[in-house]
Amino acid sequence: MKLIADYHTHTRYSHGTGTVEENVVAAVANGLHIVGISDHGPANLFGLGVRRVTDFIQIKADVFVAQRRHPNIRVLVGAEANVISTAGDIDLPPEIIEHLDYLLVGLHPLVKPARLRDALCLGVSNWVGKLVKRWDLHNRQQNTAALINAVERYPVLAVTHPGYRLNIDTQALATVCARRGTALEINCSHGHITPEYITIAKRAGARFVINSDAHHPKRVGRLESGLLLALETGLQTEDILNAVDTETFVDQAPREGILRQIAEVRRQKRRQRLL
Ligand SMILES: [Zn+2]
Ligand SMILES: [Zn+2]
Repeated sequence: MKLIADYHTHTRYSHGTGTVEENVVAAVANGLHIVGISDHGPANLFGLGVRRVTDFIQIKADVFVAQRRHPNIRVLVGAEANVISTAGDIDLPPEIIEHLDYLLVGLHPLVKPARLRDALCLGVSNWVGKLVKRWDLHNRQQNTAALINAVERYPVLAVTHPGYRLNIDTQALATVCARRGTALEINCSHGHITPEYITIAKRAGARFVINSDAHHPKRVGRLESGLLLALETGLQTEDILNAVDTETFVDQAPREGILRQIAEVRRQKRRQRLL
């Protein structure tokens, strides 16, 4: 099994440290065939997200330039949108989503909520849950509902780092993701992924994507820890969106494999809109 893509990398447009170009150079150096730039939406507090939603248009322009300079890798433009309400609202408008090759969504603890009610349900409540165990059960329901509703409403390629810092019901989320064709991420940066999470999600029928969540160019394409965990838990190539079968890929048709994967990412977005 070989991983040929990294769909979760950040740049200076949100709180990464590199440019689009630097992420692409690092991806090439690490042997990737596809790299996605997926900066945070604008709702992250303390300047962690993009300043304006229109920054994604500028990112797309940078991606265009980087693509011309590096024709041996495919560069895609995505986003890691914030889920900002229990109804599943995200912090990107349809006009921006339209311009992206793919959409990731994730729950983060420090975001501007959609409404005051969501500030209480997703913000304050999760902090209280860290102190009061019984309250965390309530949070688990709220957090899971927020992610499920986002997956139901938007064409989401993958949910980023499910369960990181915020308690969720993996089985409930994975069941909906399986039906919608949304992958669950095996995140290589946060170190919170357990074999149990993978086993539960796999049993519910979900697929996975292994991403770096790189905030520095040197982390782009560093997918070893996720791949190791996937192999240990018995995942197969077909379970993982960015994986290819090594022998078929290397010996037969790398270009075909790359184009097939890009087509799958784009087709998934169109298909989810129609569901
Ligand atoms: Zn994130
Ligand atoms: Zn991220």
